[in-house]
Amino acid sequence: MNGTSASKICRVCTGEYPPITYKNYEFLSQFLTERGMIKSRKLTGLCSKHYRQLAKNIKRARHLGLLPFTTISAKIRPQELKALFESSSATKRKQEQSADEHLGSAETESEQ
Ligand SMILES: [Zn+2]
Repeated sequence: MNGTSASKICRVCTGEYPPITYKNYEFLSQFLTERGMIKSRKLTGLCSKHYRQLAKNIKRARHLGLLPFTTISAKIRPQELKALFESSSATKRKQEQSADEHLGSAETESEQ
């Protein structure tokens, strides 16, 4: 009823896609966004069972160094990185005033 019938059927179930395993990391990489995050279930078009399997195997592949972790430092703007850093270390911030100098080095490699 909603959308095409093709997108509703999980392609792993139909056998259109190869089995989901970390060994198939080149195949799994198509389910990652350019930032290296796993695409949402809707975008992948997989059923819940296979989506869970996908997420599990992507994480496994990351640990083996086959797939990237979120490439947050490469794409994010220095200001955003700074905000992120500050929010994560908000409690320590009073003591650590050198944090800003630390971020200075990250700014230089923000361009690709
Ligand atoms: Zn499936």
